[in-house]
Amino acid sequence: MILDHNQLTSAGDILVVDDSPENLRFLVEILTHSGYRARPAINGELALRSAQLKPPVLILLDIRMHGMDGFETCRRLKENEQTRDIPVIFASSMTDTEAKIKGFKLGAVDYVAKPLNAQEVLLRIATHLSLSITQRQLQTMNSLLREAIKRAEYANRALLASEQQLTAYSKNLERLVLERTRELDEANRKLTDLSEHDALTGLANRRKFDEVWQVEWLRALRQNSPLSVIMADIDDFKAYNDCYGHQAGDACLQKVACAIEAQAQRSGELVARYGGEEFVVILPNVTETNAWRVAESIRADVEALAIPHAHSPTAPIVTLSLGVAGSIPGLDPERDASDLLAEADKRLYLAKEHGRNQVALPFRPVATLFQRVGPLEGNPADRSRDGAFSHANHASKISNMLTVCK
Ligand SMILES: [Mg+2]
Repeated sequence: MILDHNQLTSAGDILVVDDSPENLRFLVEILTHSGYRARPAINGELALRSAQLKPPVLILLDIRMHGMDGFETCRRLKENEQTRDIPVIFASSMTDTEAKIKGFKLGAVDYVAKPLNAQEVLLRIATHLSLSITQRQLQTMNSLLREAIKRAEYANRALLASEQQLTAYSKNLERLVLERTRELDEANRKLTDLSEHDALTGLANRRKFDEVWQVEWLRALRQNSPLSVIMADIDDFKAYNDCYGHQAGDACLQKVACAIEAQAQRSGELVARYGGEEFVVILPNVTETNAWRVAESIRADVEALAIPHAHSPTAPIVTLSLGVAGSIPGLDPERDASDLLAEADKRLYLAKEHGRNQVALPFRPVATLFQRVGPLEGNPADRSRDGAFSHANHASKISNMLTVCK
């Protein structure tokens, strides 16, 4: 790097050391004349003090001096951290090689011979000053570069750490979202469960029944398949509550609910608490005849529970009355879902009117809609259409009658 004169002269003081006042004057004069700032020192001690007090940019050092000579002065300058990097140019009348080698070994950068030639002195000063300044600039640049690399490395590490933190944070967030979603799903499921089920019996509630009933009706219509419904009501339940209390009433409802549910376990079948002591069973893909069989099984199962009911005018135990209605919606355009339900309800009340603890038979005319069903090992006699059937031949009788009705 070549520096211009201004850069050289403005770099700082040049320390001129010589025990000859004439030489000193001469050197200070040529340097000042060339634009440099020159600082004189008449011996080695003063030179060291001056250099430490305010380090010059270059030292022109006489070798032969009274007291401390130039070599010793140079050695001490190089010992001191503050002054060791200042370029030293020896000036002496000594021309032997050994002296030069000694000077270079002590750390001098150059050598000018006495008598001093102004032009040579100025040229060597310019050269070494330029080198020294360039070296310092390079050192500064190097140092800045190292600093920049350190900062970049630090930033990189920080970035990496941030990325890791961000990834961890993101994963944590994902986990939390998943957890909350699961909790929300669970809460929603519970809410749906609560909104669709009867708290006492655990059966579907009226709302759920209405929904499923419509769905099943439309499915049966679409698939041209049969659909049946059973309405069931506990006989004389008010008397039961009055006699045994509401807690026992609740327990009774639960037992009856279980018995009904046990008879409607096939896929798509639904048992619901329709209200109070009334239950309803949806039987998709079940004909009215088979629905009647299911209803009769329910009635028999509840009877078999033998829950005491001392104040029932029907029997000394809890009994059920049931109404059944079935249809193939596609072949029965006159009726809709609510008609079929109303029919089952109507038959339930006919069963009540005709003595309770029975399934009203699903055939017309009304006189034949209900049949008293006897015990399983009851009277086998087939007395009449509106009389009592034995369990053993009941199903075939009903089938025959239904065939006639259709
Ligand atoms: Mg001298």
